[in-house]
Amino acid sequence: MAIATETQPLQQHKVNASSASPVEQRRWTLNDFDIGSSLGRGKFGHVYLAREKTSNHLVALKVLFKSQLQQSQVVHQLRREVEIQSHLRHPHILRLYGYFYDQFRVYLILEYAPKGELYKQLQKCKYFSERRAATYVASLARALIYCHGKHVIHRDIKPENLLIGAQGELKIADFGWSVHTFNRRRTMCGTLDYLPPEMVESVEHDASVDIWSLGVLCYEFLYGVPPFEAKEHVDTYKRIVKVDLKFPPKPIVSSAAKDLISQMLVKDSSKRLPLHKLLEHPWIVQNAEPSGVYKG
Ligand code: AMP
Repeated sequence: MAIATETQPLQQHKVNASSASPVEQRRWTLNDFDIGSSLGRGKFGHVYLAREKTSNHLVALKVLFKSQLQQSQVVHQLRREVEIQSHLRHPHILRLYGYFYDQFRVYLILEYAPKGELYKQLQKCKYFSERRAATYVASLARALIYCHGKHVIHRDIKPENLLIGAQGELKIADFGWSVHTFNRRRTMCGTLDYLPPEMVESVEHDASVDIWSLGVLCYEFLYGVPPFEAKEHVDTYKRIVKVDLKFPPKPIVSSAAKDLISQMLVKDSSKRLPLHKLLEHPWIVQNAEPSGVYKG
């Protein structure tokens, strides 16, 4: 189905068409959208391209089945995800415009990322150039500085959770493991390869877990594999806890990039390179596109 793009932003709540007052708001329903092709399939349902009828704005409509959410006991997690993501406004964070539900399904109205999953791009290229990696890392650092400023820790930064916008800009897309916090946390979450030592060992953690994961991501961008990969989970755990960081001879990666990664993958979380310092690191300064957009 062909859908025309409109740049006008979608409002978080629909303003009642019969009323001029923006205060009078009503909930979204499925009737507000023309549903287009499937964009993909996730663990709990499908994602469709959709057009909001009044504004012509293109969105990604994520349809989740209540029964599956309940069965997997992730209702609380979804509530938290919606609550957090809907309040974030940053060029490198996917917007969540709103949600609605019916008897069987929950619908999330998400910003549409036309260039799809970063993960697939990485698989296609095997690894990224230093310019591309640095541009992505810098844009994610900016997004994470913004999140941390709002006391939001993402806790699950990895290629599968990143989408690419129309201009080629990266968007953090999944806040399923994120948390709004003023305290240090103990919960074990995230994905094994990207877990920092303090989460593997279930000791307290804070926003610096995201610096670790960004370091893992930077390594995977440049080498095509995460740094602590092992055949068995238990061996990955051991390598993380030891910070068994090795840089293979191929592909060739500059010593400046390795220096940055080594400053992020530090066991003592308080000694990890702060994100604002990361933006001043010579590798980032020399390689990252100032616009935050990698054009290829
Ligand atoms: P998810 O359930 O979030 O894992 O999404 C399933 C798939 O749908 C993803 O792997 C993407 O390919 C696609 N997708 C999800 N959200 C969007 C979006 N906002 N824009 C474009 N594609 C998306």
